[in-house]
Amino acid sequence: MNDFGLKMVEAFPEAAVLMDLEGRVVEINKVALDLLGYRSLDVVGRSLFEFAPAQEETTLRDLVDETRVLGRIRNRRIRLYDVRGRLCELKAAFSHYQDEASSFAGLILVFRDAAALSKLEKELFELRDFSQALLDEADVGIAVTDLKGTVVFASKGVEEAFAVSQGSLVGRNLIKESGSQLALNERFERLIKTGQSFDFESVTEVGGEKRFYSNIFTLRRDRAGRAKGAVVLCNDVTKISEMEGQLRDTNSILREQAVDLKRIVEITRRLGSFLEKNRIYEEMAEAARKTLDPAAICYLQRRAKSGELEVDWTMGFEKKPDIALFIEGLKTPKIIPDVTSVKGLSDIGGFEGACAAVFIPILRKKKVFAALALFLNQTREIRRGEIEILQSIGNSAAVALENARLYREIKESAAQLEIKVFERTSELERSNKVKDLFIDIMRHDLLKPADIGRLSTELVLEMEEDQDKKDILDKILQSQERMIDLIENASILAKLESGEVFEISEEDLGAVLMSTATELEDLAEAKNMTLKINAAGEYPALVNPLIYDVFSNLLGNAVKYGPENTMVSAKITESGPSWRIEVSDCGEGIPDVYKEDIFQRFSRLEKGGVKGTGLGLAIVKRVVAAHKGRVWVEDNPGGGSRFIVEIPQAFKNFLK
Ligand code: ADP
Repeated sequence: MNDFGLKMVEAFPEAAVLMDLEGRVVEINKVALDLLGYRSLDVVGRSLFEFAPAQEETTLRDLVDETRVLGRIRNRRIRLYDVRGRLCELKAAFSHYQDEASSFAGLILVFRDAAALSKLEKELFELRDFSQALLDEADVGIAVTDLKGTVVFASKGVEEAFAVSQGSLVGRNLIKESGSQLALNERFERLIKTGQSFDFESVTEVGGEKRFYSNIFTLRRDRAGRAKGAVVLCNDVTKISEMEGQLRDTNSILREQAVDLKRIVEITRRLGSFLEKNRIYEEMAEAARKTLDPAAICYLQRRAKSGELEVDWTMGFEKKPDIALFIEGLKTPKIIPDVTSVKGLSDIGGFEGACAAVFIPILRKKKVFAALALFLNQTREIRRGEIEILQSIGNSAAVALENARLYREIKESAAQLEIKVFERTSELERSNKVKDLFIDIMRHDLLKPADIGRLSTELVLEMEEDQDKKDILDKILQSQERMIDLIENASILAKLESGEVFEISEEDLGAVLMSTATELEDLAEAKNMTLKINAAGEYPALVNPLIYDVFSNLLGNAVKYGPENTMVSAKITESGPSWRIEVSDCGEGIPDVYKEDIFQRFSRLEKGGVKGTGLGLAIVKRVVAAHKGRVWVEDNPGGGSRFIVEIPQAFKNFLK
């Protein structure tokens, strides 16, 4: 025997045995040995029948004979003992073997462990049931069809999608039995031909409830890629389409609200742009008409005086409606679907045919402050959005009316103010005239007699010999001089304050300073004081002659308040666009707290025995201000005070 047969048995993937025609084992492969537990030498050379139970030997011999005749026998159950004497159930196939070259004829027996096989089979069945159950449980249905659309497998979900019971679905044709057969047929054929998947939508009714399915058909191919049928995935999309519907509803509500909102903004803007009461009411009625088209409208307001809610404006009523009662106490808008059902409301204001009414309270501090009432001569559903618009109309109208009232009041008070200003101006003009008159009286009518008085006193004083009388006359003279000073200063100040036009001409401030210093020389000499003026240059400025008073006041004060045997100095320097005039003395100085006060009228610090009117520095300040300059006082570094004046330079002033 050529060993081809042996090799073939050895290499066979399943348990295999080569026997001669008498059933003697020639070769057994490893798989068979492993299955039965023998070693090769235990088996080779022995008859196969020895391994079978005695009562089955004949059957086995018959099988061998049959194989010789038929050439091949499949799927037979045989039983053989294994090495431990246990009977093994085997599923066996016999085939005749003829070795041409060595003319060996025999049989090949191939077998499997039948028990293991049936276990595997059971497991496979279980797995199939499990997958079926899994598919039946799943949200999707799965169906498998052949090329014609006949169902070969279907899960429970398909039954619902196509409204047929599961059992009967297998073997039936989904395409032919579908309600919308034509369309489905066409698409199914295209799928088979071109592989183009499609979604077929179906609607079924279960217990009166509609369910929507999306059934996706895809091509099923065999291993070689040839079309074999279709796989259908059935999805219940009822929820999704419900949600789509809801989304559509929400969308339209949102759109509606956006439109309402736009209207509200528009109404608020329009109503807010009017300041006239009637115009506001007209606009309000127009906006309400566009919203609900009422047959009659009225607007109520709480009266400030009586505290009562009263109708302020109506449209469409025959007479003022008696309606406050129904609105008082409302916290939110109220819709009355049928006014005839409400006592006292059906015949209100003589208005007939009204079916529904809407009351919109306008609240302030949680109380009805005003209200809008609308009467409709039809029944119709009133949207929430419409009520919201009406509420904004009411609110905007209330604000606009309030603005209108304020505007009216402001206008009225402005008119009154105008009258008052006019009266006051005339009064002022009158009092200015009186002041001018007073200044004139002071200058001419007071100064003259005072001067005459002074001269007379001087004369009498010169003639008088008696010292006691002389002392008295001296006192009289001093108070007369003080009176003249006062009159002169007061009239200057009054003139400055009356705002009279101020005449200016160019002067050299150095010259002004020198001449005032000269005038004061006697006074300084009396106190043995030196006046040191440092103003050698040219200091042109545009000034009024009152500038002399400024310098003589400052120099005069320095002499007046400076101690005997000291020096008073004055100088002019350039400071930016101005001339800076400094007057320094060696007196006690001025405490910081008074540095500003002394420039006020009649502000005098206690100065032992020094006489004055308290008007000098007030005049200085006003004259300097009239020249667009500044004046202030500082401490003199060596003790005493230093008064500083700044007056714009002439050419710089001119340039300004
Ligand atoms: P008066 O006529 O009293 O001098 P002024 O208006 O000229 O009035 O001055 C106001 C007050 O400022 C003076 O009463 C004085 O107390 C104070 N005063 C003014 N100049 C000086 C100074 N050079 N030194 C000290 N005190 C001064």
